[in-house]
Order: sequence, then C-alpha cells, then structure tokens
Amino acid sequence: MVQEERRLKAAAQKATRDVHAAQDSLANLRRTRYHLQEATDTKKPKKTKPSPPIPPTKINKTTRVEEDPRHTQLDLDLKECILSGTDYGIVTMATTVTHTLEELEKLKAGQFFKLPKPTKLVAKDIAWKTGQFQLQRRLQRAKEKTGAGQEVSQAEAILAHNSLASAMTVQQLNDRFAQTRSKVAKLREFYHHPQIERRRRHLQWRQWLVKTKIPVDAKRKHDKTLIQAIGHAGTGVGSRVGGHFRLGGKWHRHISRQHTIVLVTNEARTSMTCPFCRHRIIHPRKTVNGRSKLNLGTSCCTNPSCEAYQQQKNCFGRDSLSCTCIALRCYGQLTNCEIL
Ligand SMILES: [Zn+2]
Repeated sequence: MVQEERRLKAAAQKATRDVHAAQDSLANLRRTRYHLQEATDTKKPKKTKPSPPIPPTKINKTTRVEEDPRHTQLDLDLKECILSGTDYGIVTMATTVTHTLEELEKLKAGQFFKLPKPTKLVAKDIAWKTGQFQLQRRLQRAKEKTGAGQEVSQAEAILAHNSLASAMTVQQLNDRFAQTRSKVAKLREFYHHPQIERRRRHLQWRQWLVKTKIPVDAKRKHDKTLIQAIGHAGTGVGSRVGGHFRLGGKWHRHISRQHTIVLVTNEARTSMTCPFCRHRIIHPRKTVNGRSKLNLGTSCCTNPSCEAYQQQKNCFGRDSLSCTCIALRCYGQLTNCEIL
C-alpha cells in the first residue's frame, strides 16, 4: 500500500516536472523569437546616433545609490559585506532574508543549509507604530459611544444608500446632492475636529520617523556593510484587496538608499526557482472544505538530484525563497558570474 502510494507520488511529480519542462522550452522558444524579431527590426537604418554607453557606477562603502547590479563596479571587499534580498508583496509588505558570503557561496555550489529566518514587514505593524491604528479605533469608539458620533454614523448610513454615482434620473441626482450637502457640516465637524486634526499632524510627522527607523535598524543589526538587493517589481500599492491595509510604495527603497547600498535586481522567475539546484519548484496541494487546492504560500523542490530534496528538507516559504533567489542573482551579477 505504502509502496503503491510512493510510486504514484513519484509518477505525479514526474508528470509535473514534464509539464514544467515543456513550459520552459516554450518560454525559451518565445525568447528566441523575440530576439530574432528584435534583430530584424534593428536592421532598419536609424537616423539618430547611438549615445555612448553610461560608465558603470562605482560602489564603495559609502555609496548611496539605487542601481542595477549589472551596471556596477565593485570598489570594496565583498568579504566584509552582507547581502540581503527583499521582495515586496501585498499581504507582507516586504520580506527580507540576509545572507553572509559563505552562505551565498554554498548556494552557488548547490550545497544545502538551513535558510535563515526572514524578517517580515507588515503594513499593520507600521500603522500600529505610527498611531494610525489607534486613531482609527478612537474614531470608531467615538462613533459608537458619543451622541455626535452616533449622528455621524446614521448620516453615513443614509449617504451610503444615496450615492450620486448610482442616481438614474436628474431629479434623483438633485435630491441626492441636496441630501449630501445637508450632511457635510456634521461630518466635517466630527472628522476634522481640532483635536483629531492635531493628532493627524502628529501622525504625519511621526510616520516619517517610524519608516526611517526600519532600514536603519536593519543596517545596525550587522557590523558588516549591508548591501540590499531589492526586487524591481510590485511595490504593494493600490486599493485594499481582501481587507489588507496597504502602505506600500517606493518609500522603503528610497529610505534604504539613504542608509545602505541598494541594488535593484530583476526578480523575474525568482519565486519559481529553487536556489539550490535552479530547477522549477512546485506548490503542494492542500484540502480546504473537502476540495483540493494549491497551497501557493509554500514552495517545494522535487528535483531528485537536488541536495535539499535528498535531505528531505525541500519545502520553503514562497517569499523567503524568492528573497534568497534575488540575493543570489544580485551576488552573481556583482561578481560577473551569472548564477540565476
Ligand atoms: Zn532544488
């Protein structure tokens, strides 16, 4: 029975690998076609003179730039450095994994070691530290307890049912507009009360301090020079999805740049590659309410020749894996020896 199960599992894994191999070969073909197309396009004579190539940026201990690692020239000893990979996301705003040079060399050689624990930055934490969370809770409590607050919540309920956007006739629109205007004074008095406004100003001032502290603390944790490899895509901005509070944006990268060396790395395929063997990973399946679903938060390597697989420690968190891959790619590009 057990043997049968094992055999089936191996067969399923092999099938997945075959599918991935087919997908990868298709991607390679597409890439070739793109390059060929590009080559045929450039054959047309160009009128403008090509500008001379920009010289690479020299990086020393005190360089404070945001640069692609491919366009850099090292002016410091990498042995005195520590390299961290950062990946931005929606639920977790930023996941960071820090690697020493020895660990990166091990990764490069495909030797297994336990990946370090990731540092996670969540929007809720920032909201708590800046006081935004407390302000929201205070407003909510005032709405429930005080007379003015209850009036405001009633007015809001009425306005929610009479939105101007959903009015169908001119008469309806005029009525709704009048109703909205009549509630404005009450709402403004509640939300822009001098005390609340003062709190908001304080919050804005504090927010910058709290945000600055995050990269500074990350830098002070190590006595070596910190090089931050940050993924180039997705900064976690936009509307709320699934109630997740969003405080993303470029601020993390910009503040990090002022305190450490920031290298913006191409993060393509980093979340679908195993850093030990550079093969495609798979997501395991889980059962939710009796139905089988893909567990997208976990990544497993099923390559039989991978050391992590052989030691039966082949399951990793998706974000920490992609951070490791980003750091590894950045390391490869820094040392002019492409790994990923
Ligand atoms: Zn692997």
